[in-house]
Amino acid sequence: MSTFALISDLHANLEAVDAVFARIDQLGVREVACLGDVVGYGADPLPVTLRVMQRCAWTILGNHDWGLFHELDDFNPLAREALLYTRAQLRPSFLRPRRRAAWEFLRTLPERREAHGFLFCHGSPRDPVMEYVLKSDGFLEPDKMAQLFGMLDRPCFVGHTHWPGVHRPDYRFSQATDEQREFKIDGPCIVNVGSVGQPRDGDPRASFAVVHDDRVEIHRVPYDFRRTQAKILAAGLHPALAERLARGK
Ligand code: ZN
Repeated sequence: MSTFALISDLHANLEAVDAVFARIDQLGVREVACLGDVVGYGADPLPVTLRVMQRCAWTILGNHDWGLFHELDDFNPLAREALLYTRAQLRPSFLRPRRRAAWEFLRTLPERREAHGFLFCHGSPRDPVMEYVLKSDGFLEPDKMAQLFGMLDRPCFVGHTHWPGVHRPDYRFSQATDEQREFKIDGPCIVNVGSVGQPRDGDPRASFAVVHDDRVEIHRVPYDFRRTQAKILAAGLHPALAERLARGK
């Protein structure tokens, strides 16, 4: 029996990350892995990256992590502005040698991973860093879903949309809620673990997953988002990035 936790889309939110790691420890789950977007949007990229380096067995690349080292033309203005802030916080220098390990860690993350008989990426199986698998794709984009499922012979875990739930081979999306937060995963499916640091499903609590062989549980953890909001504002980041944390949008 193998049990492990999956976190994704931390977005430099230290309070959410600490709350989630504390809950994972309480649950007695030792192995944790990260599906990317360690940084971006939030005020604490360095401490969050150092926490991930220490606690996670492995981490894969998210689009915001990628954006640290590439042109930002395809990012929306808020994401771009936050990535420029993140670069300034993380770029190593002689005066700030502690940043070097975090910078190199993010720069060399892999795009996908196989472990425990499952597949893992940030976005989608065919475009692991950038493509969204949206909850509406089942009825709006059936050809896309057919292609994605054509590539899968087993469950694939993703993040990226910040909406926790499971896409089934019939393209139905079952959203994770307090009433239904446990799902069987015994064949091809796409499991979204939600976001630790910037949930967008209307629930402000941090989201993460615990996998036990053939089932996954989505957990939600409250954290002190007012403290995170104050740090975002103090850092000079856009107020919308603070405000959305209270609404989970
Ligand atoms: Zn994200």
